[in-house]
Amino acid sequence: MDKGYFDFRKITEQQDELDFKNKVPCPNCKKPIPQDATMCLYCGEEVYFHKKPKWFVWTAIIAIIVFIIFALGGF
Ligand SMILES: [Zn+2]
Repeated sequence: MDKGYFDFRKITEQQDELDFKNKVPCPNCKKPIPQDATMCLYCGEEVYFHKKPKWFVWTAIIAIIVFIIFALGGF
């Protein structure tokens, strides 16, 4: 029983370690919080990690493609 309990704790610790890799320091209190968090779990500060919306990415890609077409077209 004791051994099984120990193994469970070991697995939990490993998961914590993995989660830590996906965390970033809070700009306010510097504690690790999930990258996709919108507010700090510790100090309550609202945080955004420069996540660009999908439309922005597609607009940038289309702009680059249009630029290349014009560049190759010799305009
Ligand atoms: Zn914080």
